[in-house]
Amino acid sequence: MHIGFLGLGNMGGPMARNLLKAGHQVCVFDLSTAAVDALVQAGATQATSVAGVARSDVEVIITMLPAATHVRQVYLGEDGLLANVPAGVLLIDSSTIDPMTAREVAAAAANNGNPMIDAPVSGGTVGAAAGTLTFMVGGSEADFQKAQPILATMGKNIVHCGGTGNGQVAKVANNLLLGISMIGAAEAMSLGVSLGMDAKVLAGVINSSSGRCWSTEVYNPFPGVVENSPASREYSGGFGTDLMLKDLGLAAEAARQVRQPVILGGLAQQLYQAFSMQGNGTLDFSAIIKLYRQEH
Ligand code: NAD
Repeated sequence: MHIGFLGLGNMGGPMARNLLKAGHQVCVFDLSTAAVDALVQAGATQATSVAGVARSDVEVIITMLPAATHVRQVYLGEDGLLANVPAGVLLIDSSTIDPMTAREVAAAAANNGNPMIDAPVSGGTVGAAAGTLTFMVGGSEADFQKAQPILATMGKNIVHCGGTGNGQVAKVANNLLLGISMIGAAEAMSLGVSLGMDAKVLAGVINSSSGRCWSTEVYNPFPGVVENSPASREYSGGFGTDLMLKDLGLAAEAARQVRQPVILGGLAQQLYQAFSMQGNGTLDFSAIIKLYRQEH
């Protein structure tokens, strides 16, 4: 299949590589020429602009951009995708953005004669490289069926979450809970250790008891509890505090639009924000445990 791919960053780069490995022809564009060059070396062809990808005879276009402003610009801009892409080309946006923008852009695509799905991912850069991402898809059943085999070359779980925007709804709800649960895990682990328990023994008890969750079991924020977790390598790699802050901002904004309180989410957002302001924005988000621990 001939596929266009825009946004070749930490996630999009390895995702586009997996499409090439599966035998697809991939035409790429990114503002970073280094990112484009790396993909061309791996076998992709390149376009020199967003419009160039749209006009390169592709059947599908995938975007993996930082945030909603970039998605608006790339799709709705004067020389953007919708102004240049032929009707019928399937559009897949895998960026994490708010559900309202996803619905607005998909409606503009539909007016243009282009089917569009939102398909944000979880699984991080490791999942992107390994082709084991989870895709949360919003769109019609027919468009989901068309996209499914393509997404399956980049991911393991491809879940149809309902109509347009619902992929972003699932992503926002999951990351809201993750942001909150990590702070809970940090608080409980810090308290237990301060009261005299060994961190590994405490994690073992929690993980076979009712407090267990992904943040305690797979991604425990206390150093040395889970080998290979960001906590065990000084919070490098993983999912940055500023990315979590972005996702909690999306949850707060989406909640405002439907007049739904996100009380713990708001508190969590402020804690990550204070932590980021102290210069920790690039550390993995589990480093939030530093708010509870005195450095020795
Ligand atoms: P990134 O910043 O590494 O990559 C984004 C890329 O988009 C960059 O290469 C940038 O040059 C390119 N870009 C920006 N504007 C462009 C434009 N107008 N035209 C072409 N290219 C443009 O970001 P990332 O870590 O790859 O994340 C991408 C998305 O995936 C974000 O929405 C993020 O929230 C989400 N996400 C990230 C992770 C993660 O662990 N990094 C996990 C899940 C979801």
